[in-house]
Amino acid sequence: MLGLMQDWPLLVHKIIDHAAQNHGDREVVTRSVEGPIHRTNYREIAVRARKVAEALDRLGLKEGDRIATLAWNTWRHLETWYGITGMGGVYHTLNPRLFPDQLIYIANHAEDKVIFFDITFASLVEQIAPKLPKVELYIAMTDAAHLAEMTKKSGANIPNLVAYEEFIAGSSGTYEWKQLDEKAACGLCYTSGTTGNPKGVLYSHRSNMLHAMMCAQTDAQAVCSRDSILPVVPMFHANAWGLAFSAPMVGAKLVMPGPKLDGASVCELLTTERVTMTAAVPTVWLTALQYMDQNNISLPHLNRVMIGGSACPRSMIETFEKKYNVQVIHAWGMTEMSPLGTIGTLKHHVAELPHDKQMDYKVKQGHPVFGVEMKITDDDNNELPRDGKAFGRLKVRGPAIVKGYFRGEGTDAFDDDGWFDTGDVATIDSESYMTITDRSKDVIKSGGEWISSIEIENIAVGHPAVAEAAVIGVRHPKWDERPLLIVVKKPGAAVTREDILEYLKGKIAKWWMPDDVQFVADIPHTATGKIQKTTLREQFHAYRLPTAAE
Ligand code: AMP
Repeated sequence: MLGLMQDWPLLVHKIIDHAAQNHGDREVVTRSVEGPIHRTNYREIAVRARKVAEALDRLGLKEGDRIATLAWNTWRHLETWYGITGMGGVYHTLNPRLFPDQLIYIANHAEDKVIFFDITFASLVEQIAPKLPKVELYIAMTDAAHLAEMTKKSGANIPNLVAYEEFIAGSSGTYEWKQLDEKAACGLCYTSGTTGNPKGVLYSHRSNMLHAMMCAQTDAQAVCSRDSILPVVPMFHANAWGLAFSAPMVGAKLVMPGPKLDGASVCELLTTERVTMTAAVPTVWLTALQYMDQNNISLPHLNRVMIGGSACPRSMIETFEKKYNVQVIHAWGMTEMSPLGTIGTLKHHVAELPHDKQMDYKVKQGHPVFGVEMKITDDDNNELPRDGKAFGRLKVRGPAIVKGYFRGEGTDAFDDDGWFDTGDVATIDSESYMTITDRSKDVIKSGGEWISSIEIENIAVGHPAVAEAAVIGVRHPKWDERPLLIVVKKPGAAVTREDILEYLKGKIAKWWMPDDVQFVADIPHTATGKIQKTTLREQFHAYRLPTAAE
């Protein structure tokens, strides 16, 4: 027997309709790519999203067509996403930090038909356009005057080029959204792919909508209509962690940083737009915190900051909480999970622990939100105990988690019971708090035992002279691999190898102590802000540990 409740398909453009209807005046503020601060609201965005849909429809685009965006977080990008999904298309976020060859591979693999791009990427688009035979139209996300200015500098050779404002100008804004199946594809994002080719994750309307509801919960992003939210995390990095959906869903103000993600620009918006909640990867906060410290910035409005994408070090959590009175929400997730998986908020009895003990939980990656099932297994797929000690392959399943990559790639990540192997190695404790110890390919295997590179890195950055730290395994004749600690010093700091090793003493097991410390000017990062360990391993390929001769 079926239930007698209404069929109301979970379609993401219903979010912008809800925001327009019930929170129409709520502002969306952008530091525009052209320069000035731009202000609009959900009512206007919903009308302009319909104009985008109408114009794409007129162009002959069909349901399921992939339409790419190569753009910063702006109000136009938001309109474009909702417009694409409302006409049945699939928004495909291209990450401008990738190499041109990777972008060409991805856009061709996706068979993108249109590319919306910010004028800051004109020369990049000009470079890749000749190798994208399927793209029929390039839309510069600006007006005609700025497009003309742009082509004087670069992009003059981009074929079939139109300004966004011209593109939507002939549309009425009364377009009727397409009637779609909630399981229809609506978004596409490729994994950063540190090994092999990037793989496409194809979201459905249903998965994005359920994910937005998961995000909005109090023990997750805890967003509400009184919030002013600044997603520093780009829409091209795992859907801006769901904020482009969860913020309008609850009627929160959105503050879009455009192309300026430096400490000064972010801090300015935090203050002028009275931001209450923000989100970014640790590397962004690394520079922002330095800026705040040097310029005596205070954050009177900011209430919480969501940090994920890489492990958030204890020292960063302490600085935000003790110095700025801002709560840190440490989160873990993946592009493949839409992306939210776990969240480090305090469960009831943890909240009653003394501050130092609470901190031990805050550095963990957190407990799963509803809709995420999680387990750890050994290499033979046997489930390991949830005792906070055993570590193994982290596997997940749920309604907003990938069940297969676009065009059938990467099948080895999925097992017959529907579990997805995250590629992360983790522990889960009896309270369901999960701790990532490593990516499986980064774990250091020393004498048959595993050493967590992430844990050593997190402790090392707590040293006052250390700006950033990375640990990699280096070949060792006796132990197979031993940890090498690579350090970037803070500007002007004087610190020696011995100082750092002394600092680590007693904080990690003796046999985890790095065999050496090397200082470098900077550490390479991936297009999504993670430490690029493959490059570091290449860089230190010829390096020999001082202990290797023993
Ligand atoms: P992406 O799909 O680019 O978001 O990358 C997902 C990967 O980033 C995960 O599989 C983890 O390896 C890593 N990651 C994300 N959040 C965290 C976190 N809070 N701590 C440690 N690693 C993280």
